[in-house]
Amino acid sequence: MFMTETKENLEQAHLDFISTVSHELRTPLTSIRGFADTLLTSYDRLTPEQREKFLLIIKEQSNRLINLVENLLTVSKMQSEKELMVYKTIDAVPIVDCAVQMVKNQYKTHKYVCNYGKNLPKILVDTDKFQQILLNLIDNASKYSDENTTVTVDLSQNYNENTLIISVKDEGIGIKQEDLSRIFNKFSRVDSPLTRKIQGNGLGLYITKTLVEKMGGNITVESSSKGSEFKVIFKAATPEDNGKNKIKE
Ligand code: ADP
Repeated sequence: MFMTETKENLEQAHLDFISTVSHELRTPLTSIRGFADTLLTSYDRLTPEQREKFLLIIKEQSNRLINLVENLLTVSKMQSEKELMVYKTIDAVPIVDCAVQMVKNQYKTHKYVCNYGKNLPKILVDTDKFQQILLNLIDNASKYSDENTTVTVDLSQNYNENTLIISVKDEGIGIKQEDLSRIFNKFSRVDSPLTRKIQGNGLGLYITKTLVEKMGGNITVESSSKGSEFKVIFKAATPEDNGKNKIKE
């Protein structure tokens, strides 16, 4: 009985997944095909401004598809038992600096403030995955807040628990309390007029939480109408970890 239910649940989850992915693929594809058709059939009747507008939509929708496919590949790799994690003891500061710089290039009017505590502990993580976590959180903080607002990244140490805390804080649209628990689920987006205007597929935080937990860390979120704060917490690397590279499946 239990076995059957589990199998049925898995099958249902699989069907739901296919249906959501198909929907996510169909929306941008329909829009690309529509605007390409219009350009092909009515090119001469369109003003140069209209042509440019339609081409920009095609480009934007293609980017949406690329993001979706990249996220799906990440999810599929994460779920495969064989994903290799290359652990290294690292100083988080240069990786955070690099992630902030990468996001900053896309959001020219936001301000980015980084505060790094003194003598921060090193952490044992897979560097690429750690950077992906930071990129997702800093990108969301920028994406869900207005131009000219500030995104603050703080690195601090909790001496009692011997952990490194990475906080990413924005002054954006915030997340209602009743939505907080489900934003880490696969394909979960907050349904509000404000979020609908912002592009996304609801996979970023699922990927982020899965990667953080896979590396032994923890992620929390607090939010109000004034903005949100995500915190990622990792245990400090031990002296035995130092200098050792570990590969784990
Ligand atoms: P998306 O691709 O939609 O951004 P995520 O998984 O990264 O997907 O985030 C899930 C949802 O959580 C988003 O759709 C948004 O509603 C909400 N969210 C995430 N980060 C923030 C933030 N910093 N401020 C406000 N809402 C956020």
